[in-house]
Amino acid sequence: MLIYTKIADLQAFLNQKRSEEQSIGFVPTMGALHPGHISLIASCRQHCQIAVCSIFVNPTQFNDKADLERYPRTPKNDIALLEAAGCDVLFMPEVVEMYPSAPTETYDFGQLDKVLEGRFRPGHFNGVAQVVKRLFEIVKPHKAFFGSKDYQQVMVVKALVVQMRSAIEIVPCPILREADGLAMSSRNVLLTAHERQVAGSIPRLMQAARDILHRQGPGAAKRFVAEEVQQNPLMRLDYYEVCHAETLQLLNDGDPLQNSVALIAVFVGKVRLIDNLI
Ligand code: AMP
Repeated sequence: MLIYTKIADLQAFLNQKRSEEQSIGFVPTMGALHPGHISLIASCRQHCQIAVCSIFVNPTQFNDKADLERYPRTPKNDIALLEAAGCDVLFMPEVVEMYPSAPTETYDFGQLDKVLEGRFRPGHFNGVAQVVKRLFEIVKPHKAFFGSKDYQQVMVVKALVVQMRSAIEIVPCPILREADGLAMSSRNVLLTAHERQVAGSIPRLMQAARDILHRQGPGAAKRFVAEEVQQNPLMRLDYYEVCHAETLQLLNDGDPLQNSVALIAVFVGKVRLIDNLI
């Protein structure tokens, strides 16, 4: 696997591949890789001739400084995992390489970035859009692969590509889960053993809430989740919402549920976890 830290070096290599008509696939990450990330690399390899991964802990998408400092960083292990997965190129820029000066551009994605994560993490999707746009302009992939664990992020990135008038195809990939159903996340390593056990209840809670949702509607499902979370002193709910799967419009009692997604953000101890269920 080739490893680049400089934009110019990466682009020299990719320009060569593009001139040979090779298709380029891209998997942007923040590192601390786990099998969820590796499944994106596998999809990328399946669809494209050259698989490019980036590892960049993007400071502009963290609305909480402590969260940025706590974010796990495991470069040696990441490189070994990517090598084993058959990734062709890894791009690992320093912050100054990506942002020679502090980025100032702002984005508006309408409803998409106002609800859910956008509401509870102000500025988060603006930071995501800043870094994804730069990465897309550097790598110029044919396809880019994103995990559905970050459901709202996939929607925002799709909207970004439209705003950029770019032809990059965004490929959403399924959520990889641990044996107990917990969505794999780089943040899971920050949980204590007891917190990890508690976190395992999140997917079960989502399943139980889905049954209530279909029998009694969003209001009852939201009350159920709020009550269940409140019973565990280690957990604190940011949100549980039922949304239209494409517009992310929040759904209320009486709204049709055919094309809907339930999304949750919950703290377990100090660790904020998200998950969703179509
Ligand atoms: P991150 O490093 O957390 O920014 O994630 C990089 C990419 O991996 C994003 O597209 C995530 O949605 C995706 N990803 C993270 N966790 C999972 C998972 N459990 N299953 C599938 N994709 C994931």
